[in-house]
Amino acid sequence: MPLTSSARRASCERCQRPQSACICQWICPVTPHHQVLVLQHPLEVKQAKGSGRLLQLSLQGSQLVVGEQFDVAQLQDLLFGVWPGADQPVERVQPVLLYPETGQTASPPVMVPAQQRLRLVILDATWRKSRKMLYLNPMLQQLPRLSLQNPPPSHYRIRKAHRPDQLSTLEASCHALAQLEQGQEKERYLPLLQAFDGFVGQQAAYASGSPD
Ligand SMILES: [Zn+2]
Repeated sequence: MPLTSSARRASCERCQRPQSACICQWICPVTPHHQVLVLQHPLEVKQAKGSGRLLQLSLQGSQLVVGEQFDVAQLQDLLFGVWPGADQPVERVQPVLLYPETGQTASPPVMVPAQQRLRLVILDATWRKSRKMLYLNPMLQQLPRLSLQNPPPSHYRIRKAHRPDQLSTLEASCHALAQLEQGQEKERYLPLLQAFDGFVGQQAAYASGSPD
């Protein structure tokens, strides 16, 4: 039996990628103050260069759900319901969408009292597909929005569809969390951002056909 080829095809249980492209070495566990919900567009699932799965595997207590148009009841539950294992059953959940203001919606600015926990909702998709996800899910349009203030330049240079001024899902999320946690432990996302640099390097090596 060609054991080597079947071993190559076998996928990692944790990151669900082929063993040969496993990204688990880059997982960098961080416990954010806020809850994180990643809504991943189906086209991102097989996208080797996508950072949404690495983000979700690193952020403890986060959830990742794949879809483009979500069932209303399911989305309601993801946004406002109590998550399994959550330690705050009575508190009202406040979901906030990480998305730039587009001018068409007048969403209230996000004010975060020191101890309040938010549920940061992240669309893991290309810019085009994220707009489609918003269009298809009016409940997402109605959420208050958080946009990044003075985001640093992206280290993400491996996706052609990616605008140079646009951060990867992982980078945008880490900067958003650090922004929300200002004055607390801003530095805690640095190790994950550094691990992400390693991931980018690995993907770039694969792309050039010379994985080490
Ligand atoms: Zn893996």
